[in-house]
Amino acid sequence: MKVRRCLLLLLLMATAVACGSDRPGPDAATPAPLGQTFESDLRLAKELSEAYWRQAFAADGLAYRPVTAFTAYRGDDGPDCGGLPSVPNNAFYCADGHFIAYDERWMRKLYDEMGDGSVYVIIPHEFGHAVQAQLNSGFRLNVERELQADCYAGGTLGALVAGGSLEAEPGDRDELFLNLAAAGDPTDDWLRPDAHGTAEQRQALFAKGYTEGAAAC
Ligand SMILES: [Zn+2]
Repeated sequence: MKVRRCLLLLLLMATAVACGSDRPGPDAATPAPLGQTFESDLRLAKELSEAYWRQAFAADGLAYRPVTAFTAYRGDDGPDCGGLPSVPNNAFYCADGHFIAYDERWMRKLYDEMGDGSVYVIIPHEFGHAVQAQLNSGFRLNVERELQADCYAGGTLGALVAGGSLEAEPGDRDELFLNLAAAGDPTDDWLRPDAHGTAEQRQALFAKGYTEGAAAC
């Protein structure tokens, strides 16, 4: 994608917030990179997510700690997390080791079938978990953790679009919502299964982060 994507325009349709430039974005001085392939979109989503959080943490006088690894795996050959095996068709953040791993064939399938928005929803969501770990966010329920990660993902994308690092284009919104309903560590086996919230809840929290910023999450 040519970093087109206000994946989010959809969200904006209701609010007319649109991709304005009045909000601070990460590395505004850096030319917008172009994602053209699955591999480059993955790399871009990772780099932009961390650039955003680095800046957001710095604004609060904190130091963002980059993940130690961003690991691709296939099917059953993924890394363990705290002694528990990874599972196929998933992407996850592991606090024990502070890394993110993803089943690359599953991610590519989503990318091919649902569009590049899949990468820009799933990766920022997982970085949302990496941020929660650093902020020592406490949650009683796993669903609260998951919905905040969706909100953080929306906040990340909203800031990247506002800062000019990403562009949204028509159709991105539907693509994003479709992906929200279908993706983002759907099988947190070592946490609690089936506790990610409904598609409507996930979309609502993503939209909240996008329009109000991650600080509102
Ligand atoms: Zn999650």
